[in-house]
Amino acid sequence: MLEIKNLHVKLEDEGKQILKGVDLVVPAGEVHAIMGPNGSGKSTLSYVLSGRDGYEVTEGDATLDGESLLDMEPEARAAAGLFLAFQYPVEIPGVGNLTFLRTALNAQRKARGEEELSSAEFLKIVREKAKTLKIDGEMLKRPVNVGFSGGEKKRNEVLQMAMLEPRMCILDETDSGLDVDAMRLVADGVNALRSPERSFLVITHYQRLLDHIKPDVVHIMSAGRIIKTGGPELALEVEQNGYGDLLAEAN
Ligand code: ADP
Ligand code: MG
Ligand code: MG
Repeated sequence: MLEIKNLHVKLEDEGKQILKGVDLVVPAGEVHAIMGPNGSGKSTLSYVLSGRDGYEVTEGDATLDGESLLDMEPEARAAAGLFLAFQYPVEIPGVGNLTFLRTALNAQRKARGEEELSSAEFLKIVREKAKTLKIDGEMLKRPVNVGFSGGEKKRNEVLQMAMLEPRMCILDETDSGLDVDAMRLVADGVNALRSPERSFLVITHYQRLLDHIKPDVVHIMSAGRIIKTGGPELALEVEQNGYGDLLAEAN
């Protein structure tokens, strides 16, 4: 599924090297977590995978089902089944949530050579999914994320994920502290979408999210590299002992 090989990335403007040889394989159906100290390059990795501007890949590759993501436009990556949560937490005044979801879904279908959904088909699907996520009709009509609470934004993000049915979901939970309720929303959403065909890469600074999303594999990232890979127990080790021992071991 997702295969990252010797990925080196630098900032386009400053020339600063951020990723220094990341190797990572996420097979179909698995949930992998990336943890690591602040500034280790976790978010940079997710941005590069999603195709954000400002980063230059100087070496290595990242492939989804054997096809390089790096040559693809962000839209083509989405069509190939990649979803980056937090890609759309932006507020979009004047654009209703439903319109946004329908546009995103139809753009993805078009890029895949599939027919666009009719209004009725789309509404049926979105209402079903919104119901399971406890999103009310009012929220679907409001402009995207405008005035949404933190929890509503999270719900909306999970709804986007549920609508696009990606095969590879990358969630960068940043370091900015989700409260317990928001964390549970994300975890429930991820857990509901887990399937043998779908993989997740959950990036998190803290162990606590992984109390709710049980990862198959945990990777520790430091200074632009994966320095250790293990099972869920690795996350517990980090929670108990911090990163100090792992970093010392790697040096
Ligand atoms: P993490 O998500 O693990 O906290 P980041 O990927 O956000 O790490 O950052 C890795 C390093 O790259 C940090 O030293 C950060 O300051 C730097 N960095 C990332 N993006 C930029 C940018 N656009 N401009 C300047 N520095 C950046
Ligand atoms: Mg950070
Ligand atoms: Mg980050």
